[in-house]
Amino acid sequence: MSLEAAQINELHWLMEMLHNIDVGLVVLDRDYNIQIWNGFMENHSGLLPREVKDKNLFSLFDEIPEDWFTRKAESVFLLKNKAFTIWEQRPFLFKFQNYRPITGTADYMYQNTTFIPLMAANGEVSHLCLIIYDVTDNAVHKQDLETANEELALLSQTDGLTKLFNRTHWERCLQAEYKRWVRSQNPSCLVMLDIDHFKKVNDSYGHMVGDEVIRHISGLIREHVRETDVSGRYGGEEFAILLADTTLENAYVFAERLRATVEKSIVKYNDIDLQYTISVGVAQIVPAIQTYEAWIECADAALYQSKEGGRNKITLYPKQ
Ligand code: GH3
Ligand code: MG
Ligand code: MG
Repeated sequence: MSLEAAQINELHWLMEMLHNIDVGLVVLDRDYNIQIWNGFMENHSGLLPREVKDKNLFSLFDEIPEDWFTRKAESVFLLKNKAFTIWEQRPFLFKFQNYRPITGTADYMYQNTTFIPLMAANGEVSHLCLIIYDVTDNAVHKQDLETANEELALLSQTDGLTKLFNRTHWERCLQAEYKRWVRSQNPSCLVMLDIDHFKKVNDSYGHMVGDEVIRHISGLIREHVRETDVSGRYGGEEFAILLADTTLENAYVFAERLRATVEKSIVKYNDIDLQYTISVGVAQIVPAIQTYEAWIECADAALYQSKEGGRNKITLYPKQ
C-alpha cells in the first residue's frame, strides 16, 4: 500500500471513530450553521447529518438560548481559547431524552459541553467544535446524594420520639434569636415546661405509656404554636418553646391555653385513661439577660418556682 493510501485509510478510520464515539461532536461555522454532526448527535436528536448540514443551530434547537450561547462562542472565536459549560450551571445544551436504564429517573440527558476553537490555515478561528458529554449518571447520583444529605441534616435536627427539634438544634435557634434581639430589641419570650410527677406515670403504667404522654404533649405544643415559633424537646419530659416577637402578656396567654388544654386532656393507651399536668416558666428577654444561656436559666428558674408553688402553674419572669 502506498503512503498516500495508508494516510487516506487512517483518515477514514479516524472519521469512522469520531462518528461512532459516545460523545456528541458538532462543528459550527462563524454564522452558527452546522457543518459536522456525528452519530451520537444523530442518535439522540433523530436528525441525520444531511438534515442539519448548513442549517442554523438556533433555528433547529430553540432550547439553546441564543444570547447566552453566542456570548460564550464569540469569546472562543476571539480569544482562541476553549470554554466549558457544566450541568450544574445549565443542565443541558441540547434537550435530549434520557434513555439510560439505571438513571432512568432523569427526564432528560444532563450534559457537560466543551467549546473548542478550530483554526483555519491562515490562523483565523473560522469554526467552532462542540463536544457534548452525557453526564446523566453523575448528575443523578449527585442529586440523590444531596437529597439524602438534606434528609440526614433534618433527621439530625429532630428528636425521634416527638419530631420536635432536638436540644442541640433548638439551642442553636435560641442563640440566633438572642443575637437578633440584641439588634432589634423586639420583645421575645422563652417558655419552658416540664410534665408533673412524670416518674409516677412511668412507675404506674410503664415506659410505653410514658412515651405516649410525651407524644401527647408534643402534639399539643405543635397545635398551639405559630409557624414562626420554635419548639424543642429540651430533656426527657421537658420542652422549650421560643416565641419570637411576642410580649410577656401574649406568651402568658399561650402558656395558659396550653396548661389548661393539658389539664383537660385524657391520654388513652389500650384500656388505660390517664390525665396529667404541666408546670411552666416563661421568661421575656430583658437587657439584664446577657447571654442566651442566662435566658434559659431565667425560664428554668421560673419553671422551678411553678413546681415549688404546687405544680400545674405558670410563673413569669420578670415578675408581674
Ligand atoms: P416533677 O413534677 O418534679 O417534674 O416530677 P417528675 O416525676 O416529673 O420528675 P422528673 O422531671 O425528675 O422526672 C423525669 C422522668 O422522666 C425520669 C425519667 O425516667 C423519665 N423520662 C425521661 N425521658 C423519658 C422518655 O423518653 N420516656 C419515658 N417514658 N420516660 C422518660
Ligand atoms: Mg417532671
Ligand atoms: Mg423533668
